[in-house]
Amino acid sequence: MSRKVAQTALRKKVVFVDKVLTKTYGEKSARAGEDPVDTLVETILSQNTTDVNSHRSFQALKNEYGDWHELLGEDHAVVSKIIRSGGLPDIKARRILDALEFINRERGRIELDFLRDMSPSEADCWLAQMKGVGPKTRSIVLLFSLGMPAFPVDTHIHRVTGRLGLIGPKVSREKAQEELGALVPKSEYYNFHINLIEHGRAVCRARRPVCEACVVTGACDHFSTARKGHS
Ligand code: SF4
Repeated sequence: MSRKVAQTALRKKVVFVDKVLTKTYGEKSARAGEDPVDTLVETILSQNTTDVNSHRSFQALKNEYGDWHELLGEDHAVVSKIIRSGGLPDIKARRILDALEFINRERGRIELDFLRDMSPSEADCWLAQMKGVGPKTRSIVLLFSLGMPAFPVDTHIHRVTGRLGLIGPKVSREKAQEELGALVPKSEYYNFHINLIEHGRAVCRARRPVCEACVVTGACDHFSTARKGHS
């Protein structure tokens, strides 16, 4: 199959899966109203932990420091202690302090609203200058706070799209972000992103996917391979 034909088939699959997941989990509309600095900090805190834990550590930080500027020059050990419920506190405290210090140094204050005046790729490049702010974190800021087209790939999306066969078996999360970004219609980024996560949590779970309850078995490579193995 030529690359062009394969891409067309994958695009059709995306449209089908998106439609079925939307029917199952509902249409999700982008809000894009969140403060980009809040989103950046919350996303750093969400690395390698559950939503509940990361939200708890984000709230603990917000309760302690009403304004991000109060964190400038703060002792890393103090921040680490406040956010410890979210896991990897030392690494995350360092990343947060580094990011806030970088923004303040570059902009004279801690805010990222100026990114709204940039193109998505310019905004992405600006954010990429910060140490420890990877593609997923950047695309979450772009999509959720700035309303820009970006397709973040978290662990659920990586797993589900891999099983569906939308990405190859050895494609990294970083590469998957690029490949899926090219396959999914931009207007569906937000909806598809949220619904894939919902599907990954509820049905296409990491250890034991509940294929018997899945609404997209007809489009799933993992399912058809497993079925062939049993026949
Ligand atoms: S059929 Fe199974 S493996 Fe495929 S998407 Fe559904 S739950 Fe996941």
